[in-house]
Amino acid sequence: VGGAFWAGFVHENAQEELVLRPPGARPEEEFLATCIRCGLCVEACPYDTLELGTYGVDVPVGTPYFEPRKTPCYLCEDIPCAVACPTSALDLAQLKDESGELDVSRSRMGVAVVDYNNCIAAKGLRCDACVRACPYMGDAIFVDSRRNPRTGKHAMLVPVVDADYCTGCGLCEHACVTEEASILVLPREVALGRAGEHYELPAPDFTPEVPADEI
Ligand code: SF4
Ligand code: SF4
Repeated sequence: VGGAFWAGFVHENAQEELVLRPPGARPEEEFLATCIRCGLCVEACPYDTLELGTYGVDVPVGTPYFEPRKTPCYLCEDIPCAVACPTSALDLAQLKDESGELDVSRSRMGVAVVDYNNCIAAKGLRCDACVRACPYMGDAIFVDSRRNPRTGKHAMLVPVVDADYCTGCGLCEHACVTEEASILVLPREVALGRAGEHYELPAPDFTPEVPADEI
């Protein structure tokens, strides 16, 4: 986690409130009451995405979490982590479609939030690395045009996330080209709930760093 925005965000939120859980995880309190700390989900993940909280890490000990900047969730179609869970702390019911088939696109591990004050596309440079990394490109994240405030006429193309479709997999955060990720997955209740009430997301500052006619 880095950049002025995220530093502020982390300061405002206890680290454990920013923990991302595997697909199908029940709401945090319920999850903590249901997860028996067996680690079967972690063992089942073929990408080593999941880790178990341990002493010295701000995650309840023995509970699974992931850090997308390090290793995102690759959204396995057969969702082995959730299938391995013996207590339904990872709830398969949340991950099934109307016909009862597993559908990993129903995962809601978090939601990606763009820090437009750090995103280079919002400074007028060409970049869509996060958009191209998304398996739900066009739905969960898309490129939108914003008026260039300097020239008033040239459009800038910036990434925009639609929380209704974002799974929180973090493939975008993993792919972001800036040194500190300019798109970060946050727990949904933080990004969409409490954050909305108590933490003002930074207003996009679409000031380009290079003249628009050189873009
Ligand atoms: S869906 Fe696949 S990649 Fe994602 S956490 Fe589960 S097992 Fe790992
Ligand atoms: S976290 Fe990023 S890559 Fe994953 S679904 Fe959401 S916008 Fe797409």
